[in-house]
Amino acid sequence: MGKEDNAILIEEVDSGAEKEYQEMVDAIHEHTQIKDLGKIREAFEFARSAHGEQRRKDGSLYITHPLAAAVIVAEMGLDEDSIISAILHDCIEDTEVSYDDIAKRFGASVADIVEGVTKLTRVVYTSKEEEQMENLRKMLLAMARDIRVILIKMADRLHNMRTMAYQAEKKQREKALETMEIYAPIAHRLGMQKIKWELEDLSLLYLDPVGYEEISRGLEEKEKEDAGFMERTEAAIKKRVQEAGIDGTVQSRTKHIYSIYRKMYGQNKEFSEVMDLYAFRVIVNDIADCYNVLGCIHELYHPVPGRFKDYIGTPKANMYQSLHTTVIGSEGIPFEVQIRTWDMHRTAEYGIAAHWKYKEGISGKSDEEKFAWIRNLLEAQQESDAQDFFSNLKVDMFSDEVFVFTPQGDVKSLPAGATPIDFAYSIHSAVGNRMTCAKVNGRIVPFSHVLQNGDVVEVITSNTSKGPSRDWLGMVKSSEARNKIRQWFKKERREENIVNGKASFEAEMRRLGVPLSALDDERVLQVILKRFSANTLDDLYASIGYGGLSAQKTVNRINDELRTIERAAREKGERPIWSHPTSQAKAVHGIVVEGVDNCLVKFSHCCMPVPGDEIVGFITRGYGVSIHRTDCKNYVNAVSKDKDKERWINVYWADDLSEKYETGLAITASDRNGLVMDIATVLNSLKVKVNALTARDIGGVASVFITIEVKDRNELGSAIARLLSVQGVKEVKRQGA
Ligand code: MN
Repeated sequence: MGKEDNAILIEEVDSGAEKEYQEMVDAIHEHTQIKDLGKIREAFEFARSAHGEQRRKDGSLYITHPLAAAVIVAEMGLDEDSIISAILHDCIEDTEVSYDDIAKRFGASVADIVEGVTKLTRVVYTSKEEEQMENLRKMLLAMARDIRVILIKMADRLHNMRTMAYQAEKKQREKALETMEIYAPIAHRLGMQKIKWELEDLSLLYLDPVGYEEISRGLEEKEKEDAGFMERTEAAIKKRVQEAGIDGTVQSRTKHIYSIYRKMYGQNKEFSEVMDLYAFRVIVNDIADCYNVLGCIHELYHPVPGRFKDYIGTPKANMYQSLHTTVIGSEGIPFEVQIRTWDMHRTAEYGIAAHWKYKEGISGKSDEEKFAWIRNLLEAQQESDAQDFFSNLKVDMFSDEVFVFTPQGDVKSLPAGATPIDFAYSIHSAVGNRMTCAKVNGRIVPFSHVLQNGDVVEVITSNTSKGPSRDWLGMVKSSEARNKIRQWFKKERREENIVNGKASFEAEMRRLGVPLSALDDERVLQVILKRFSANTLDDLYASIGYGGLSAQKTVNRINDELRTIERAAREKGERPIWSHPTSQAKAVHGIVVEGVDNCLVKFSHCCMPVPGDEIVGFITRGYGVSIHRTDCKNYVNAVSKDKDKERWINVYWADDLSEKYETGLAITASDRNGLVMDIATVLNSLKVKVNALTARDIGGVASVFITIEVKDRNELGSAIARLLSVQGVKEVKRQGA
């Protein structure tokens, strides 16, 4: 390039963009409160020299693009930093300028925004199934930690779509598809209707030029056919509103092309069948006037039943507020009227941007506070708008999820804090199980590395890998990865799992005092195995060992099962072979009454139970609970006759018993001299206290009845054994048996 050419170029750089700069300044004056343009001018000159002689496809200087984006940002009413960032938005990506250069000249806040926009620009898009689209939309939102990043990206995209005519056809279609699938839905999501409509119409122009042409021609013809209709109607409404003494502005428009397109293809209609192509808008100063205007409209025209919607009383999920009504005009043409205040209007057009501006006015708010309401907004939408694309997905714009790329460019959504292990298992369990190494953005990272939005993650596998390590369970965030790792241990380490599982199972049984012997009963064992869908006890231990079941939960469930079995057995008059532990309830005389604390307890005289006996309680009328042995004749009798069924309740011996219990023994012996003395001597040697002793002689057979105090069934057992060893004693029976 010759010296002269260069001079011409520089002259053009200097003069060429001044016109565009001035247009931007006008927009700033019209839509924002910014007075001092010093820094904005500086940013313009900085970007202009950075982009230098770069040109756009239409031949204009590159700097005209960021200036046009800044105009859109100004129209949104955003702050000075946003406008400066818009002017600089392509500097990092397309010029030699670095983050630090921008930070030094314009501050870290601007540099952060520009860097954020650059990152979004670098996200590679290829059309995928809807789920992938959804992930990509969320990723973009999540990457834009500062909402201004996404707003500037919107402005950038909008201007690129406006000037798409100069691009090659392939690029036009690619960008149009991306805009339709990603950016227009985000604009909708953020309540930015004005931008959403324009993005949709511009996309449609490239995606279905024939359909676009058909509708725009149809609209033109319709307007010709209805010549003057819009002007007449607008004037009529204006007049009526003025007569009512209301200060209102009336606007008219045809519906945007894509909304008609969607109606035609979504509801399979011809263009001529699409109703209300025209829309009118009345903007007033306060809410009361909105309803007054509605009254005027309904006086003036015939409302279509069922078409009135009050989005003032019930705002839409994206904050949209207005009254909507569809009426039939005097010429038989249906049209929609939207009525709203100026505040509502700004929100409807610019959505989140309008609110950003409000928040800017309130100084001293932290970023966290500024973003809190956005988060609330996004969350509220998930609950209320079922059709909305974000609806079923719990997403927190900033914290719940992280979005990363596979090397092939697919987006994976993982829980925030996820590591390469989560990523590997999200692809396939075999990938996770054989992972030997992970790379993030081309660099090797430890498995505990926390993934960031937009990271490209690559997993290196080997067939000789020894499989996952137990440590991984502590590094993963997704239940999917956790389950798959456990699955591996379940299969690959069965023996080890059985040993570990058995140990923690038995420890837990002991801790809760559940008798291990209960599992010796085959019937009980079958019930419990069935409950856990296990074939053998080893299966159950293995499940506990690999972490599929927790020992604590398992034992708790077994405890419940045992109680049920125990109750059922008692009702049938059988006795389970294990002795059930006491619950935590307070014991009275060493007895815990299931479900009752500190109730009056007495031991029945018919069977005189001692600790170790299987017992059951009977709710007496007015004397508390009387305790019977489960082999007591009275109990067996009552149960067999189904008598007073609901008054028999579960009772247990307490763990720590200190009392002695009175019980009775009936001894049958051949009558001889010294028998009673021998019996007394035996009991004395056992240190058993005798409370009563009666002896009778019935035809040469001695019947001795004693009442003694023992600690428990064991002590009673040895007393009985010793008594049986007394000369002449034939039988020793417990009272009541
Ligand atoms: Mn750009």
